[in-house]
Parts: sequence; structure tokens; C-alpha cells
Amino acid sequence: METGGLRNRDLSPSLKDKLKAHYDTRGKIFEGPRLETAGTIGATFLWCQTVGLVLISIFIIFPELYPEDHVNMSGFILFLFAEIAVNWVLAARMKPSVYTGDRQENGSSSTMSNNNAILHPPNQGALMTRTDDWSYCLHCQQDAPPRSHHCKVCQCCIMKRDHHCFFTNSCIGHFNQRYFIVHVFYVAIGTACCLYWLGAYLDKFVPFLSSDIVAYIPLVQIVMFFLGKISLLNMLLIILLYLTLFCCVCGTGFFLWEMAVVVSGQTSYEAWKLIRKYKCGSLFARLRAVFGPFWLLSFIIPLPVKQPGDGIHWELAKATKRW
Ligand SMILES: [Zn+2]
Ligand SMILES: [Zn+2]
Repeated sequence: METGGLRNRDLSPSLKDKLKAHYDTRGKIFEGPRLETAGTIGATFLWCQTVGLVLISIFIIFPELYPEDHVNMSGFILFLFAEIAVNWVLAARMKPSVYTGDRQENGSSSTMSNNNAILHPPNQGALMTRTDDWSYCLHCQQDAPPRSHHCKVCQCCIMKRDHHCFFTNSCIGHFNQRYFIVHVFYVAIGTACCLYWLGAYLDKFVPFLSSDIVAYIPLVQIVMFFLGKISLLNMLLIILLYLTLFCCVCGTGFFLWEMAVVVSGQTSYEAWKLIRKYKCGSLFARLRAVFGPFWLLSFIIPLPVKQPGDGIHWELAKATKRW
């Protein structure tokens, strides 16, 4: 009887198994393909919008607005495009913030994970005693370092995870947040410039200070197009005007939020949860912790300079407090 009882207890699932089954089931419903598709749509929209604005500016708007200065204006918008594109690639395609457990902690020179992630070697000088802030990730079945969180879309633990970006289709964490912030900085500047250029160009054909201004009302423009009041090109440019306004608001909002988070020495998650318990130093130390030693220069040239810290070990502030 006793043996049978032991056998029954062995066969019954443990709490850990139940939790894993729960998360696995939930993952099949809410994670995976749907969120990945959203990321693909977001990234495709961003690239189509960016490339479209550059081509329209160079070949349609600048020859009309700046016939004498067409080359210089084209050079300026190509510079903005290069900054947006390079920083997008660095933030989206190099996923160095993935935490892969003991293999990463032991450290070797650069390692490739099964997600094609480039793993930076731990900063040996910064190694410290493990604190109680480590948690256990049920999805990855591994201990996860402080400030890391599991991403349902990327399906891995991200070091100092900030958020998952659906426009870069990747997680923003310790090693790629710098590129993301510079990317949204140039998205904000680029779309603000394009808003001005688009508005100035359209004003020549559909004046703002006239009864034709109703053509700027969504859907009314389609009616006016069929009535022959505006051309097909102008109708499409008015639609582009709204999309550019959306990108400008998003880019500016993301940039201001991210800079506020960096200056406060937190992640977005910690800012939402009012958590401030890790040592972050002076204002310049906080900027260097994200952008690297040449933090200001990284806004002009995306330098691949190693940041301080390894993304795994974090020193607690002397006085731990929750706001
Ligand atoms: Zn995980
Ligand atoms: Zn993610």
C-alpha cells in the first residue's frame, strides 16, 4: 500500500509542472504568430513610410520647393535616412540583450545563441555576488538576472528589458536601447521636416487658407478627387501627411519617454512600477551606461563601443526605496 501511495505521488504533477503547462497553454493562445505578425506589419509600415517619404521628397517636393538647392536638400534627407536605417538595423537585427543562462555567465568571447543573437562577454571586472533579485523564468527554465524579463514575442529572457518594439520587431534591452533611442530621435526629426515640406508643397495646390482646406479632411479628399478638385497625387500626399503626423507623434513621444527613463536610471517597466533600487550614479554615468563612453557622439555616428556593465550584474543602491 505504501509503495502504491509513493507511486501515486510520483505520478502526480508538481506545482512547477502545472505552472509550466499553464504558461505553455497560454502562450499558444496569446503569443507567437499573432504578435510576430504585428511586428512584421509594424516594421514593413515603417520602412515603406520612410523610403516613400525620401523618394517623394527628392523627386517631387524638392524640385518644386527648392529648385536652386535641390542637391543640398537631397543630401540632408539622405543623411536622416541613413541614421534611421543604420540604427534600426542595429536595434532590430543584432539582438545582443538575450540572456542564455550559465553559458553566458561563464563568458567566452562572442557567442551565438539559437536566436542568432550576438552575446557580449560579461565584464569580468564588474562581476559581483549574486543577489536575491534573480528570478526563475518558467518559459526558459533558467535563472534570470535582475532587471531582465521574459518576452512573449521573442520567447527569451532579455537583459535589462525595456519593452518589445513592434516597429523594429525586436526587444529593446541593455545592449540595443542606445540604437533604438537614436533611431526614434531621427524618426522624430525626419518626420517633422517631412511634415513641413509636405505641408508647404500641398499648400501650393490645395491652399490651407481657402475653401479647399476641406480636402484635408479624411474621406472628403476622396470625394473631391472624384469631383476633379484635387489630383490623384495630391490625394495620396494628403494621406501621407496624416501617416507622417502619426509617425512624428510616435517618434517624439518614444524619444522623450526613453530619455526620461535613461536620465532616471530606470527601465520602462521600472518606471511604470515606480521601482528605483539599482545604483545608477550621476547623470553622465546614466547616459554612459546606455550610450557608451562617447554618448553624445553616438547621436551622430552609431559607434559599436562597449558599454559599462554586462547587463547581468547590477549593484543595489544603498537605500532601496519604492515611490
Ligand atoms: Zn525567459
Ligand atoms: Zn521581445
